[in-house]
Amino acid sequence: MIDLHTHTNASDGSYSPAELIDRAVALQLEALAITDHDTFAGYDQAIRHAVEAGLDLVCAIELAARTTGTPRRTIHLLGYFLHTSPSPGFRAWLEEILTSRRERNLRLIDKLQSMGVEIELNEVEGIGRTLTGRPHFARVLVQKGYAANSEEAFRRYLGESAAAFVERQQPDAKMAIQQILAGGGLPVLAHPGRLNIRDPEIEEHFISGLKDAGLRGIEVIHSDHQPWDVERYHGLAKKYGLAMSGGSDFHGDSKPKVALGTGVSGNVNVPRSVLEKLRKAG
Ligand SMILES: [Zn+2]
Ligand SMILES: [Zn+2]
Repeated sequence: MIDLHTHTNASDGSYSPAELIDRAVALQLEALAITDHDTFAGYDQAIRHAVEAGLDLVCAIELAARTTGTPRRTIHLLGYFLHTSPSPGFRAWLEEILTSRRERNLRLIDKLQSMGVEIELNEVEGIGRTLTGRPHFARVLVQKGYAANSEEAFRRYLGESAAAFVERQQPDAKMAIQQILAGGGLPVLAHPGRLNIRDPEIEEHFISGLKDAGLRGIEVIHSDHQPWDVERYHGLAKKYGLAMSGGSDFHGDSKPKVALGTGVSGNVNVPRSVLEKLRKAG
């Protein structure tokens, strides 16, 4: 068994990179991919430990991107670096994403302060670290008594029709796919089931559009996927010549129902052959 979708505390997981490796070794996983959001920091810290422990660790990343066609969605892309490390150009592009997120957060702080809210960026970044976004702002606003709960914080301050709203810059999906390819990675659509496109024909059209944009794989097995989802995405992978991927999307204690390797109540079980095929496709 392998797990090709996991997070460390370098993004929004609760385990340190070393703890995650130890856990994977204890479970006798045959391979593990660290797919932190927007950063390789967790992988970079884990790789030596993994080599020493004899674990096959795959370098990977998860990115959010926006599609422009219909239906309009924010998608998550996994980039697997199976044969080469991510290029310096790709790492520089990630830095740009982090910088633009930080600038957005600074503008949000300015707007909130101009509304009389006493809030500082370091308070919010203390919770959200490099992934700081509106949910972390909401938590601070609730802690400080500016809102009774997260919903009210969004309604009064952070939501799209609220006074302090600042549009978030997300890369375009096609551009993100091309960046992963140019950086030496294999772009894979993460958890398509979460896109919640109810009509299977529209969903197929959406996925084939991403394939035309350069997508090379699809995450067929995922903790959020029901057996019929797995079957449908497996069919689409075959039809469109997309490599199949799979993983638990393990986050540790921040998502306690999802277990490393096995997902929710054992609904994830990815055989080693999946990684072998990905390596051939990459
Ligand atoms: Zn995701
Ligand atoms: Zn994830």
